[in-house]
Amino acid sequence: MGKQKPSYDASRIEATRQAAWEQRGDFEAPRPAAGQARVYVKPSSPFTSGNLHMGHVRDYSIGDAYARFRRARGDAVLLGFGFDAFGLPAELAAIERQEPPAEWVAQCGERMLGQMRRLGFSFDYDRVFYSSDEGQYRWSQWLFLTLLEAGLIYRDDATVDWCDTCQTTLASIQVEDGRCWRCHNEVRLIRRPTWFLRITPYLDENDRNTEELENWDDLSLSTQRYILGRSDGVELDLEGDGGPLTVFTPHRGAVGLASFVLLSPRHPEVDAWVADATVREQLEQMRSGGWDRSARDARSVPVFDTGSSLTAADGTELPVLISPLVDARFGPTAALGIPAVDEADRGLAARIERVPGFVEPEEDGEEAKADTAGGGAAAAAVPGTREAKRYRANDFSISRQRSWGTPIPVVHCEACGVVPVPVEDLPVVLPRDIRPTGEGNPLAERPDFVDVDCPGCGAAAKRETDTLDCHFDALWLWVPAAVPPEDRAELMFEHPDLKEWLPAERLVAGGDSGGFVFDQRIVTKALRDIGPFAFLADGEPFAGCLFHEMVIADGRKMSKHLGNVVNPDELVERYGADTVRLAILYAAGPAKTLNWSDGALRFANRFLRNLWTYSHDRFAALAEAPHDPEAAAETEFMRDRLRKWCDNGLARITDDVEQLQMHKAIRNLTRLFERIQDFEKRVVARRGQLDRADAEAQVAALVLLAGALSPFAPHAAEELLLGSGQIEPAALPAAWPGAAAIPVDADAAAPLS
Ligand SMILES: [Zn+2]
Ligand SMILES: [Zn+2]
Repeated sequence: MGKQKPSYDASRIEATRQAAWEQRGDFEAPRPAAGQARVYVKPSSPFTSGNLHMGHVRDYSIGDAYARFRRARGDAVLLGFGFDAFGLPAELAAIERQEPPAEWVAQCGERMLGQMRRLGFSFDYDRVFYSSDEGQYRWSQWLFLTLLEAGLIYRDDATVDWCDTCQTTLASIQVEDGRCWRCHNEVRLIRRPTWFLRITPYLDENDRNTEELENWDDLSLSTQRYILGRSDGVELDLEGDGGPLTVFTPHRGAVGLASFVLLSPRHPEVDAWVADATVREQLEQMRSGGWDRSARDARSVPVFDTGSSLTAADGTELPVLISPLVDARFGPTAALGIPAVDEADRGLAARIERVPGFVEPEEDGEEAKADTAGGGAAAAAVPGTREAKRYRANDFSISRQRSWGTPIPVVHCEACGVVPVPVEDLPVVLPRDIRPTGEGNPLAERPDFVDVDCPGCGAAAKRETDTLDCHFDALWLWVPAAVPPEDRAELMFEHPDLKEWLPAERLVAGGDSGGFVFDQRIVTKALRDIGPFAFLADGEPFAGCLFHEMVIADGRKMSKHLGNVVNPDELVERYGADTVRLAILYAAGPAKTLNWSDGALRFANRFLRNLWTYSHDRFAALAEAPHDPEAAAETEFMRDRLRKWCDNGLARITDDVEQLQMHKAIRNLTRLFERIQDFEKRVVARRGQLDRADAEAQVAALVLLAGALSPFAPHAAEELLLGSGQIEPAALPAAWPGAAAIPVDADAAAPLS
């Protein structure tokens, strides 16, 4: 008699499988064997917000499916994970709850890890890390000192929001309509010294490499290009009141039509152009006015006339204006203003008296456009122009006046100035019991933290009380998972395993991670040149990259305010992890925004239930199927067709998963299931029942299908494989099915026992 058929009970199946995985240690990063491919899959590092949201579930479902696929193919796989645990979100949550951020972060992390385990994500949980752990941020401090020594970190003034009442600087999200989020008093912009990361030396290389990156999807590449903000054009050297100046324009055909020059307030030579005291005052005002908060529009962006001029090749006087509009378009450079062909320049010209008004040509508008398009006449007429490009990307501030962050390892000494803390004295420990209130600077108020002897002269000195922005921690968050936890204290950046696992084979991240990734690529190049990452010749941390869009609901971004937040826990509770994973992967390709609906859930759940029941029925019936070699021979061509369906389907699914196009793979899985059912219908229509040879072929097809399902719905798939009686537990984690696994010959059927 057939075995009792188990019903599809997701929570039982999933608990059983997860216990088995844990026991087998399936997810521990293996020591790669010779000749084995090393595959480090790096999903995004979330903030410790306390809850996985559907965007995380999407990210980890893609990364986990890919990792499981590569494992099943026999590759050495590291699926690493860590939390981006410092920063404002945790600090604000802790203020609200009146508890130390360290405690809040620990609770959140535990909860989120529990959710990830319940969803069956195959991270190497022994390697999980928090950027806020002492053993981690010690290395953020090391990185700071290393980049400082290499001249890639510097201190300069920056504009920040300041609340006089709360005596604190504010992040821009803490300023609502120009008022403090806490006390609602008006906020001022002040200038204060801030630490910057110098990225400009590596922009060219990031640009060149972007064109050669393989296994990066279009979305991730387009974010890299967007952040770089490259403009191609020409540059030329002009002379003027402030001396020589190199000016750029993307309008190579319209150089002769320029009527002014626009200078960035951050141009290295800007001082030569603000000799006049009134003009200098205007520049100071513009700098402290915070160009980040002002409109970018050419009709409202700050602009002023320096009163100085440059002389164009044809003798025309070009007034020199200063405006952050240059930065927003071409970076901290100087650009020709050509109202004749440039809409933004036209907007600026209209606001400056010294610039001749631009009259829109009535009939020959086409002619002006032709100039822009690269008509050689004007360009050829201007001697001294040469091909040039500019990048909008620029150095950015990495320090914040917050207390929940990596302490910046420098000391301020009256005699010695800014003194780096010696590496052997790291970490500079952040007090764990720090309790931010939103008022003042908690670090500055702790003498046990602030008061220190100067490492240079030994005199009493003060620690830096700014902390590093969590964006700085994120610069290397892809590294720790590749180092065994027990070795991280000694060898974080020099561990031999780094050569095994880096570059990461695939980064899977949200479409808004472009900035993080861009800067991680910069820092990898810096560390290559400094030494530790010399083995990464092209300075690229990720060999492949997949960006996915977000998950929305009812056509809108999920938010508590709109009441449309989908809670993954509730879905898992109701349908099981496999259904949720399958649904989120199936509902949309990674490049598309996923508008969540119950339709995908119902589809996924129905598929799993049908496959489960159908397969178990066939496994049970196999033992009782009669065998008649003559009858079996009659349906050989059908089995042959089933084999072809299986081989084709498997080839497609394999291809889809290799490209991380999981939605296509799942569609192909469901089609293959239909064909397997169709095979049975046709045999029955022809002969009334399956011969044992047919039944064996069909069971083999179902086993192949379950194997191919294992990256997406790993719990149900593995239980099916074991339930088939064809796979021994020792053979798991499931080996990826091979082609031609379907028996076709009539004689192949086993005799009745
Ligand atoms: Zn305030
Ligand atoms: Zn000193």
